[in-house]
Amino acid sequence: MRERKRDDAATVGDWIPADTGEGPSITGMAVTSSSTDPIVGIDLGTTNSLVAYCDDAGPRILMDEAGRALLPSVVRFVAGAAPVIGHDARAHAVEYPVDTVYSAKRFMGRGFAEQGASVGELPYSVVAGPHGLAAFAVAGDVITPQQVAAHVLRALKEIAERQLGVPVQRAVVTVPAYFDDAQRQATRDAARLAGLEAIRIVNEPTAAALAYGIGASERRRTSSETIVVYDFGGGTCDVSVLQLVPGGPDEGEFFQVLSTAGDTRLGGDDIDDAIIALVTREIRDEFGTALEFPPAARQALRNFAESAKITLSSADSATLEVSFGVDRTYRRVLGRAEFETMIAPLVARTIDACRRAMRDAGAPEIDRVVLVGGSTRIPAVRDAVRAFFGREPYAALDPDQVVALGAAVQASVLSGTRRDLLLVDVVPLSLGIETVGGAVAKLVMRNSSIPTRATEMFSTSVDGQINVGIHVLQGERELVADCRSIARFDLRGIPPMPAGIPQIEVEFLVDANGILAVTAAERRSGRRAAVQVIPTYGLTAADVDRMEAESFTHAREDMQRHRVVDLVATSRLDLKWICDALARVRDELEPAYLETLESAIMSLKGHISAAEYDPRSVDANAFYQAKEALDRASVRMHEVAITRSLRGGTD
Ligand code: AMP
Repeated sequence: MRERKRDDAATVGDWIPADTGEGPSITGMAVTSSSTDPIVGIDLGTTNSLVAYCDDAGPRILMDEAGRALLPSVVRFVAGAAPVIGHDARAHAVEYPVDTVYSAKRFMGRGFAEQGASVGELPYSVVAGPHGLAAFAVAGDVITPQQVAAHVLRALKEIAERQLGVPVQRAVVTVPAYFDDAQRQATRDAARLAGLEAIRIVNEPTAAALAYGIGASERRRTSSETIVVYDFGGGTCDVSVLQLVPGGPDEGEFFQVLSTAGDTRLGGDDIDDAIIALVTREIRDEFGTALEFPPAARQALRNFAESAKITLSSADSATLEVSFGVDRTYRRVLGRAEFETMIAPLVARTIDACRRAMRDAGAPEIDRVVLVGGSTRIPAVRDAVRAFFGREPYAALDPDQVVALGAAVQASVLSGTRRDLLLVDVVPLSLGIETVGGAVAKLVMRNSSIPTRATEMFSTSVDGQINVGIHVLQGERELVADCRSIARFDLRGIPPMPAGIPQIEVEFLVDANGILAVTAAERRSGRRAAVQVIPTYGLTAADVDRMEAESFTHAREDMQRHRVVDLVATSRLDLKWICDALARVRDELEPAYLETLESAIMSLKGHISAAEYDPRSVDANAFYQAKEALDRASVRMHEVAITRSLRGGTD
């Protein structure tokens, strides 16, 4: 039932060893680090901040005690007491509006005089601090943006110390590409106040590229590469065009920022506002009331608008429901298409920023596009970016975490801890998908050189199946349970057809950076779904060796188990067809033949039950013979069924 075609591309990936960073390379700079003196990566964000660490298994986010990755960059100052930082400060911001500082990053290293009228819209007070720099008058004190950032950084340092179990004194900290020297220096000062040495300040877009392994590999690159980083977060949109420049024989490559463009007043919050505007307008039209929400209710409305927006990133519709007054309820369904029309002008503005960044960079050929920021989870945003740049953007990593992960990669490159890094010019372990019964169909074989592409046709196993779950696996073993699960996604909305009829083409594409894109498309309806993953994340060279060794040890047993799983799947389908036909023609069959046929059915069912109970105990040859015996025995019944249908029976 399966057709296979593979076409490995001829070229080999072009990864190089890298001392990556901003500006010229850092060859010769000795930075030592060990597990007792680790260097972490920190994304000090406007809204949220994160800390990450990179060891042999690759970069990972260090979570707080409650398992949360994001720390809100929010600090509430309390006269005569310690400030409240993070989740708690944000949760109670509405209650303590004048003492809760958020978005402090916007003021880092900036003069008070440069601030426009918009500071008047903030609930806390922005004043002229030391040297005329912007500061905040909170809890009876004047606090600098560096001090606010230092509280956030200290909280991140504590998270890291708890997770790593050792003191953390050094970090790579990211800043927007457009930050000037004063803003970068303010960021270093904030780190120092928090008891951290910022051993490197890295541009956020550069960190995002590093997280994808761009410019952080073990191989030497000979030509430059141009990367666009499209960052669409909660409050801002930044587009950066970077060039990764190969170094000379004695130096590493480096990233150069060719241009940046953006809109500091355009983010996911504006999309929430558009939903809020829709709801309040319709409530006014329907109920004739102009709604005056108190602050707490406004916040609730904002949360509700945001969750509707998030729902629409994965579902086709979201229900909007607002109760107000004594017994009034506004309710309506917002469909994905209507939502997309509504946000189209906002998305178009982000594409304008792309256009400006491209023009300022001299309209270079773009090699890669990387997505950053929570708002890039919106399918219409991805579609617009894909359409503008004419290539699939990188989205395998969590767009909220990608900058921190990249900062951790930079930290590990600087500290030389990545001894065990995997070479990525080949696929280190085979890649495939789960098929019926828990077997793995491999599409890309281990050691294929990258880039590589493989496609294979699959079908459904149940009549009328309209959704298919695609489970992407990595490993050399034959069964799902023995492989590493790397992604799952659903292909939805297939028209109902009998089992085995839909033609679902699954494509695996591993690009030159080792990033895997899996696409599933049903031919008749054109329905498609896709996912992107980095199969080598979290995988060490030692893991690869172990998985390979296990596949040899278990080769014979695995083959037997795979065969049994396939036999169960095909036998089930055979039994279904035979039993359906038998129900129709049973009264036309002679008793002796019927007895033979039913005993063949029972025998095959017995093998299936035994296989499901314990696949290892099954004799695959005996199972196969039982299946063949039923095939032979059913020939007569099929003849009767066909004759009957030719007679115009009820078939
Ligand atoms: P960031 O500033 O990168 O943390 O991005 C935060 C923004 O991303 C907020 O406006 C969120 O509402 C938005 N966001 C997060 N997840 C999703 C999602 N699944 N779909 C749409 N927007 C999202």
